Parts: sequence; structure tokens; C-alpha cells
Amino acid sequence: MIMKIAIPKERRAGEARVAASPDTVKKYVQMGFEVVVETGAGAGASIADSVFQDAGATIASDAASAFGAGDVVLKIQRPTDDEIGLLKEGAVLVAGLSALSNKDMVEKLAARKVTAFAMELVPRITRAQSMDILSSQANLAGYKAVLDGVHEFKRAVPMMMTAAGTVAPARFLILGAGVAGLQAIATAKRLGGVVYAFDVRPAVKEQVESLGGKFIEVDPEATKNAETAGGYAKEMDEDYKRKQAARIAEALVKTDIAICTALIPGKPAPVLITEEMVQTMRPGSVIVDLAVEAGGNCPLSEFDKVVEKHGVTLVGHGNVPSRLAVDASTLFAKNLLNFISPLVDKETRTLAFNWEDEILKGACVTRDGLVVHPALAS
Ligand code: NAD
Repeated sequence: MIMKIAIPKERRAGEARVAASPDTVKKYVQMGFEVVVETGAGAGASIADSVFQDAGATIASDAASAFGAGDVVLKIQRPTDDEIGLLKEGAVLVAGLSALSNKDMVEKLAARKVTAFAMELVPRITRAQSMDILSSQANLAGYKAVLDGVHEFKRAVPMMMTAAGTVAPARFLILGAGVAGLQAIATAKRLGGVVYAFDVRPAVKEQVESLGGKFIEVDPEATKNAETAGGYAKEMDEDYKRKQAARIAEALVKTDIAICTALIPGKPAPVLITEEMVQTMRPGSVIVDLAVEAGGNCPLSEFDKVVEKHGVTLVGHGNVPSRLAVDASTLFAKNLLNFISPLVDKETRTLAFNWEDEILKGACVTRDGLVVHPALAS
């Protein structure tokens, strides 16, 4: 029996991405697998059924037949209850599962005897860089956040010297200079903005400067231990938070567009722009809050809405990568291919799992009817 890989259409609201591209379909077919794509799965990413067919896929007419075919099911978003019901018993599911905040779903996957891999939990080690959906999607989100901010901004970004007078360049403040923030800095610079950035991790100062941004320093002593071994930020103490707030407040008064990207894994996003600070911003300024899904870096931003408060426009789009569905799908699909490729047993043309491998151990949430991830197993 030839192993079948299924790509269902994503059903969650606002999700336009798809978990395969014509290129990855071709690769799976070359590996000896059959690929089944649900009709319309690529529509949001401008990939017609016929393009998937040309790449070697067969088209399933509905979700039930797509899920029903899949020995391996690839998805962008965590499955709904209905979708879990459609998965074959014993199937392998590889997707962005948001597993740590969806324990119920994980238990249902275990009950269905699904071997489920949460791509967001793939350890961020060098060998797994090409599988890192957090980076591939955050990079696009950082870029799009700047464009979304500029779209709401009623002035130009670059300095323009014209016969009718000079237009001053727009000033950006990027809060959080991780993957999304660094791309936001690069994008704002390319548009001709003056860019300031801030992060608790002192290691990023050099990266910010190499992109032409100016780094706002708060307390170099206090931030020496601000980074975990994995390169993530820790929550800072009250004294640091006070100093940080003062520096941000100072910068915001002169900021036209603030891009918020600060996140702390497993915790609500840190509040960096308070209502009082918003009140000091110039009318017509814009705040794009990429952290809105984790509660927001500004409490005034609203999930999936663009709102105006105190004369400032707050942009709170959810699922920003989906707003660039073509590139986001291509990169996500490639991350999935890079995760699956090393698992393929060339002889049997099936997947073989070495459960000692730290990538599999890190990403696997359920197998053999059990919840196996240490952060989830009770
Ligand atoms: P993230 O999305 O968790 O956080 C975004 C940024 O917010 C981070 O830079 C963080 O330091 C910052 N932040 C948190 N609290 C803050 C606060 N109070 N004020 C200001 N900034 C704050 O992080 P990310 O972008 O996914 O990645 C962070 C880092 O992880 C990267 O820069 C990199 O060093 C590392 N990383 C490693 C790999 C790899 O080796 N494979 C891959 C991706 C990222």
C-alpha cells in the first residue's frame, strides 16, 4: 500500500494558507507517496486545484474524503473537533497545533490514536532551522506589520524634498527585535523611515544596528540575564519595567508608527505601551500590535480590529501571516517538507520514527493513544 499524504482545506475563520505548495507536492510524489488535496484548499493562496493536479496530486471532493485518505495529514491550523473525527485512527498529523494552549484538543487526538506533531514545538536548534514555522511566519508578519501601519498612516514615510516643501521622514519604534521585529526594522528602513528599536535581550543591539536601526538602551546591567538558553526573553523585574517604561514613553512622543512584537513564551505579552503613553502620541500616529493574540503590548489594541483611540490608530489584525497567504503557505509547506523528509524510510516508503531524536521528542504531543509531551502529560 502506498502511503497517502492528505492536505485538507483550512476551515478556521481568517485562515487563507494551505499546508502544501506545488513544489512540495512534487517532492512527496518523487518520494513515492500519493498526495490528496481537498478541492479549494489552495484557493486562499491562489493555487488552483489544477496546479496541484499538475504537480501530481489527486483532488478530494470534500473534507471527509481528504481526511479519510490521509495516512499523514498536513495542516496549518489545529484541527476542529469535526476534523479530529474525520482523521483516520492511527494517522500522523503534522501541523501548527498551538498544543500548549489547547490541552483538550491534544487529549482528543490521543483518544483518536493519532501520532501528532506540533510544529510550533520543534526545538529551535540549528538542525531544525529549516523546519521552524515560527521564524518563517514571524518574518512575513514583521514585514506586513510595517505595511499595515503605513497603510493607516496619513503621511509619507521617506523624506521628500520637493519644490513645494520638504516632507519629513516617518519615525518608527519597533518594540521587540526578534524574528518579526528585525524584519520590521529592515522593512521600515527600506521604505525610508527613521527606525528606533528596543528589546530586553542585549544580544540584539548589534543586529538592530546592522540593519540601520537605532537601539534604545534601558539598563545594560539588568539585561545581562534577560535571555534564556534557548534565545528567548524572560520576564523582567519591576525596577527594570519602570525604567523601560520611562524610555519607551520618551521615544513614543516622537514616534509616528510603533510596531509591537514583544512576546514571552508561555506568558501573556508584556504591556509596553500604556493608555497614558498613547495619550502623549501625536494625533495620526499608528500602533500595530502583532502581539494582540497574546493579549497585546498595548492594552488598547483590539483583536482583529483597526480602532482609533486618543487620535491614534491601533491595528490589531489576527493571523498576520495569512494576510500574505501565498508566501506564508510556500514557506510553511517547505517547513513541513523539511520536517518529514528525514523521516522517510526509502525502502518501505513510509515514515520511520526515531523517538530518541530531540526534534521528534520536542514536537510529538500524542502517540500510541497517549499524550506524551512532557509539558502536557499529567
Ligand atoms: P518571540 O516571538 O518569543 O519574541 C519576540 C521578541 O520580543 C524577542 O526578541 C524578545 O526578546 C522580545 N521581548 C520579550 N519581552 C520583551 C519586553 N518586555 N520588551 C521588549 N522586548 C521584549 O521571539 P522570536 O522572534 O521567535 O525569537 C527570539 C530569538 O530566538 C531570536 O532572536 C533568536 O535569537 C532565537 N531563535 C533561534 C532560532 C534557531 O536557532 N533555530 C530560530 C529562531 C529564533
